[in-house]
Amino acid sequence: MILRVFSNKKILTIGFFCITLALAISIYLGLHVSELARSEMVKSFALVRANEVQGVVSHHFDPDHLGKPIVGDDYAKLKHHLEEDASDSDLAELRIWDADGTTIMFSTDPTEIGHRAAVTPERRHTMHGNEPHLSFVDVDSKDSRSRFNRLLEVHLPLSVDGERVGIYELYLRTDRIETPFRRLTAIMIVVTTAIVGSMLFIGVAALSLARRNEELTALSAKLGREADTDGVTGLFNHRHFHAWLDGQLERGRRYGEELSLLMLDIDRFKDVNDSHGHKLGDMALIELAAAIRRVFRSIDYAARYGGDEFVVALPATGAEAAIAAAERLRQEVATIELQDMVSGEHIGMTISCGVADFPAGADDRDGLIGKADAALLDAKRRGRDQVIYHKPSRTA
Ligand code: GH3
Ligand code: MG
Repeated sequence: MILRVFSNKKILTIGFFCITLALAISIYLGLHVSELARSEMVKSFALVRANEVQGVVSHHFDPDHLGKPIVGDDYAKLKHHLEEDASDSDLAELRIWDADGTTIMFSTDPTEIGHRAAVTPERRHTMHGNEPHLSFVDVDSKDSRSRFNRLLEVHLPLSVDGERVGIYELYLRTDRIETPFRRLTAIMIVVTTAIVGSMLFIGVAALSLARRNEELTALSAKLGREADTDGVTGLFNHRHFHAWLDGQLERGRRYGEELSLLMLDIDRFKDVNDSHGHKLGDMALIELAAAIRRVFRSIDYAARYGGDEFVVALPATGAEAAIAAAERLRQEVATIELQDMVSGEHIGMTISCGVADFPAGADDRDGLIGKADAALLDAKRRGRDQVIYHKPSRTA
């Protein structure tokens, strides 16, 4: 069953095309969705962290805890709070100006922060604005102090009693957020490649299987044809004739159809072989087969019975029409002229033919062949080059 499906190349090609198209679309969508999900996740992650930051900051700047001034006696306390409470964040920094506008910096990891402390346009904007600000910053990859390439910066302006005192900044390493998505994309690509690879492998295997199947079918058909065919004339052989006639008589019995059988033999063929050689004898057999093909209908059946003996079966044909057809063949054969290439002599040939009919003359295979053979013998006995039909007796 599978073999039969695979042997249909058109279905296989269309199937291949559809699978490849579907995989290409799913790869594209997979990458696209992964990219979308990544940016959305980064955004929502950043907002969540910004809320956390806001919580931490409002905690630090609770007037009850810190009071005024922000810098001064509580410097150590504030630094302690920041290091303790914000230590979960990647990097956190509280930047506060003193009265002279000098920046005082606190950090959970000053070595990490230090390198990117340059004032970017975003940072300057946040310093002067009142709204929290999120931005992604590409870190110079040549900076040897940087262990990552991209930061999510969260800037929160800080005011105490309506007076701007500084900015709380949080730095999140985006690679921590992005890596799982990159990994997901890589896994998707590997899985898709594996699926495409295995589909291709299965496809190639199926194609070679289909090709092998076709070769075997062709070979077995060829062997079957050769086993049923006579090598000299190309007509069916004795073996095939018997099987065919059995089936045909069965059909005739069921549907009440007649069938006539001609048995014919070349007259004095031995003389042809003896006088002009077997090669010319073979030519005579081939010419007789060609004459049979010319005279009879395509639904009629012809076989070489053996030696110089042939049979022709005419389905749905009664004795009268069969005798007429046999007579036409006899006349056609009489026109054949072979030439001996050595002596240059022209050689003619004749045939004798016996006719029998089913079911009137005989109602089974052996009976029918026996009747046709007896009629052929009679034709030979009566002088050859003639067609003989034995009318069935009333008791037969
Ligand atoms: P008759 O008129 O009584 O049939 O005489 P005949 O000589 O034809 O006698 P018979 O049919 O018995 O001879 C058959 C001859 O057919 C004998 C054999 O040499 C020849 N023959 C059989 N098969 C082949 C073949 O394949 N090639 C050739 N060249 N000759 C064959
Ligand atoms: Mg003969």
